[in-house]
Amino acid sequence: MLLDRFPRVALAHRPTPLEALPRLSDRLGGPRILVKRDDCTGLAGGGNKSRQLEYLLGDALSQGADTLITHGAIQSNHVRQTAAAAAKLGLRCRLILERRTDHGDPAYLQSGNVLMDYLLGAEIAAILPRGADMAAATIALGDECRRAGGKPYIIPGGAASALGALGYVDCAGELAGQADRAGLTIDHVILASGSGGTHAGLVAGFHAIEPRIAVTGFSVGVGTNQHDHVLSLARDTWSLIGGAGTVGSGEVRVSDVAAGAGYGMPGETTIEAIRLVARCEGIMLDPVYTGKAMAGLMAMIGEGLFTPDETVVFIHTGGLPSLFAYKYLFGDEQAGGSALT
Ligand SMILES: *Cc1c(COP(=O)(O)O)cnc(C)c1O
Repeated sequence: MLLDRFPRVALAHRPTPLEALPRLSDRLGGPRILVKRDDCTGLAGGGNKSRQLEYLLGDALSQGADTLITHGAIQSNHVRQTAAAAAKLGLRCRLILERRTDHGDPAYLQSGNVLMDYLLGAEIAAILPRGADMAAATIALGDECRRAGGKPYIIPGGAASALGALGYVDCAGELAGQADRAGLTIDHVILASGSGGTHAGLVAGFHAIEPRIAVTGFSVGVGTNQHDHVLSLARDTWSLIGGAGTVGSGEVRVSDVAAGAGYGMPGETTIEAIRLVARCEGIMLDPVYTGKAMAGLMAMIGEGLFTPDETVVFIHTGGLPSLFAYKYLFGDEQAGGSALT
């Protein structure tokens, strides 16, 4: 695949490890489960957006940008990784945040990702109410920046564009190569599906090299029409890399079973998944994305959708900082620490 012609800035630690989770597989009575450690991409806490940003920032630098503008929820991992990339490249970073949840807990409003945004030197230009037109607000901020003599580059929410999705076209190839070298045949890939670029990139990437592999994305929000959104982004990504034909509708698999009450609203199954993976494997998941995707995988295993000899790869997309923003969810663990107050 011709990814080489797209300018790219090195931001992520690549390749990320592919590790077996034998204790989790045993515990769930499931298939062989592996984890692709994209929580270990390294950029200020890591996560999937580092891969997308490599291509988006390649484009920004080739256009001579001096300012990155993006948006996300208050606890956005995407925003935090963008702020880190800007710091690393010496660019200004201006952010618009959305109160996408009703959480009023001080930890939610001040700790986790948003604390890191400040430490990374990003400017929070505005905090808007839920449902505000965030894309329009970034365009307006871009105009303001230009009038002041700046050269803004606007990154879409979640880095979700065909250009950003190239980061996961590349990851599909990386993963297939690792599996080959380990003598493993991947049957199924599982991930959290939010703004959709990660899911779309993997679908386009496997369409090119291993169309046999089923990629299932667990929606993390409600009412997002996730299947059509991801399909359209996967098709745009496929055209961008000059692929012949198109991505089939059936190649985009979306499940809503783990979405709970909506974006940023973890359910009981999310919390259970976070605890289980922490205690079985020493790996931390997050309450907004990966905890939901793991709850989804556990539900699929519970329904008997895999045979024991199948191999499932769970993409760990990161999100650790938001665990601290949602500390109120973990009352039981904190009760154990009450001797420390
Ligand atoms: C953004 C994000 C996702 C979802 O990726 P999209 O490309 O937005 O669908 C999953 N996990 C974490 C931790 C994220 O920050």
